[in-house]
Amino acid sequence: MIAAVLFDLDETLLDRTGSLTDFLADQHARFADKLGGIALKRFRERFLALDARGSVHKSVVYPALLAEIGGASDAAGSLLEDYMQNSCRYARPFQGMEDVVAALRGRGLKLGIVSNGETALQWRSIDALGLQMDAVLISQAEGVRKPDAAIFSRAAERLGVTPEQCLFVGDNPAADVLGARNAGMQSVWFDNGLTWPESEPEGETIRQLADLLALPFFVSTAVNLRA
Ligand SMILES: [Mg+2]
Repeated sequence: MIAAVLFDLDETLLDRTGSLTDFLADQHARFADKLGGIALKRFRERFLALDARGSVHKSVVYPALLAEIGGASDAAGSLLEDYMQNSCRYARPFQGMEDVVAALRGRGLKLGIVSNGETALQWRSIDALGLQMDAVLISQAEGVRKPDAAIFSRAAERLGVTPEQCLFVGDNPAADVLGARNAGMQSVWFDNGLTWPESEPEGETIRQLADLLALPFFVSTAVNLRA
């Protein structure tokens, strides 16, 4: 019986690419004189490519981007600081997030977030999305990252449940889904851009957050009635 639902943050609750698309338009306008005259479309494309879905730190992304586009090399620090301070102003959730969170709460489930990232930055996103969670574990603060089983079992412990009572929802097959499985949790893959590894058996998959509520974990009563 599922007693708690744990979510990844970036590209699971937070529409990170959508949020960044809006932030980068604002940053491009404000730093126009430092960016070597690059068009917004190209600035966005190159940022997102170098960022690799958040896997490359922005202290690496900005210098590389400026070198590539012939921008002011001394602007990397101020672009990074601007990203840290202001990207959260554009944070937006995936469609249906509020309803899903409210519905799960309404079913008496405990809710949490387990995110790989920087503590201050991730908290800004969580606050910007208005998320109230029973536990939030961010890798920088915890000293351990997904897919290490330790961060998953610590999350269950904080919620006062066993890993077997947890359902983990995330977009990253290795860090989220296989990591949670390995820690003894149920898991759901939010398929929104990454590729499932062929070597691994597929499990439950959703393509919209709202589809979560229709999964067997949450409709056991209806199944029993049919049986
Ligand atoms: Mg993610």
